[in-house]
Amino acid sequence: MTDLQPARTRPPRSHGAVPKPVSPFDDEAAAVANLDPALLAALRRAATAAAADGVEIRVNGGWRSPEYQDWLFTEAISTYGSEAEASRWVATPDTSAHVAGQAVDLGPPAATPWLSEHGAAYGLCQIYRNEPWHYELRPEAVEHGCPPMYADPTEDPRMRR
Ligand SMILES: [Zn+2]
Repeated sequence: MTDLQPARTRPPRSHGAVPKPVSPFDDEAAAVANLDPALLAALRRAATAAAADGVEIRVNGGWRSPEYQDWLFTEAISTYGSEAEASRWVATPDTSAHVAGQAVDLGPPAATPWLSEHGAAYGLCQIYRNEPWHYELRPEAVEHGCPPMYADPTEDPRMRR
């Protein structure tokens, strides 16, 4: 059924697409360069510390244009079969922290344990239990630790309009 639909072209890197993981220091990548400056600074401090521990942190997603987020949401609807199920994984352009430049999707999986252990010291917190790669800046985490996670984005009050 889906193969009858015309292929939809992925928006370009200037919209925040990250065809291959990039360095947190890659200013050429719009996904990185357009992040909220405070989040970007925290991410770079964490990545530098991780590297000293022999752990490489890469960015799989960061800032996205509203058009790219809409493209991803539409893709998710066809992947998950319904808007409700898609909403557990991908936000709409109106609610996405990525569109606001306030979220990063980090990898590779080998970096996840380091981020879980040390991220809070840089204010970097995992927000959703079902997305171990999705981090946002919570400055208060430096002193108090990260807030409890939501099971998935549908529990996040910011996602309700
Ligand atoms: Zn994310």
